[in-house]
Amino acid sequence: MAEEKQNYENTEECTHDCSTCGANCSSKQEPQDLRAQLDPEARVGKVYAIVSGKGGVGKSMVTSVLAAKCRQAGNEVGILDADITGPSIPKAFGCDLKPGVSAGNLMLPPLTNSGIQLMSTNLLLASATDPVVWRGPMIAGVVTQFWTDTLWNVDYMFVDMPPGTGDVPLTVFQSLPVDGIIVVTSPQELVGMIVEKAVRMADMMNIPVAGIIENMSGYKCPDCGAVHNIFGESHIDEVASKYGIKVLARIPIDPLTAKAMDEGLIEYAKLPDIDTGDLF
Ligand code: ADP
Repeated sequence: MAEEKQNYENTEECTHDCSTCGANCSSKQEPQDLRAQLDPEARVGKVYAIVSGKGGVGKSMVTSVLAAKCRQAGNEVGILDADITGPSIPKAFGCDLKPGVSAGNLMLPPLTNSGIQLMSTNLLLASATDPVVWRGPMIAGVVTQFWTDTLWNVDYMFVDMPPGTGDVPLTVFQSLPVDGIIVVTSPQELVGMIVEKAVRMADMMNIPVAGIIENMSGYKCPDCGAVHNIFGESHIDEVASKYGIKVLARIPIDPLTAKAMDEGLIEYAKLPDIDTGDLF
């Protein structure tokens, strides 16, 4: 006789987590698909999300450099700046153009000098120095609209995520079809903890970690070109091998990179080395 499926409804055994439970209760909730849909006219190939444990470690720099390299390799490239309250992507590319409007009423992303498609709150504000003082759901809503209401036409999209693992990153991961996460860390951080958090979040979201980048990994002297390990030994290799993640780069602090970001000339700069072989 076939065994009847257990019914845990209103019993002490009920964990209230229907996603991992095989019981057949009448109140069983199907997992919701929270994916935001692209407009049928838009096209986006692979999506990479660039994440960090906290602000200021170089997430936007890495996003800009990856996009510039991807463009230089001959691809159509977009950057979705999901760091809504601290957007720095337009400045890195010296872009202050406003989005246009398509015949189908979608936003047309402004283009950088080399033709990278950009969407960022800074491009929508009257002044780039206006603060964005919004609550989480509103911020997450804007990110989703950048996905659904923009006429993207790209082979690769790089999403500059808000730092941390809070409400907004969570919504972004649930709404956007991210193919891979790239984790940016700096040697001053508790790298093991940051990476473990990112790996576990990626696991929960069913998204692979495409690689890890250690930024500010020593100081590159502009006079002699030598890299000095001012923060001591790097532990990135041990941490990466513990979690089976590929180290894509160790990028030193380079005053020329900072200058290029500051002057909006990142596309024209000598870009730091990153192993992009498996990305694009
Ligand atoms: P995040 O996006 O993580 O907040 P940013 O990419 O905005 O960080 O970087 C913070 C600041 O540090 C920026 O002024 C940026 O130009 C600078 N910066 C980042 N990485 C480097 C680097 N490797 N060398 C020099 N300056 C850097």
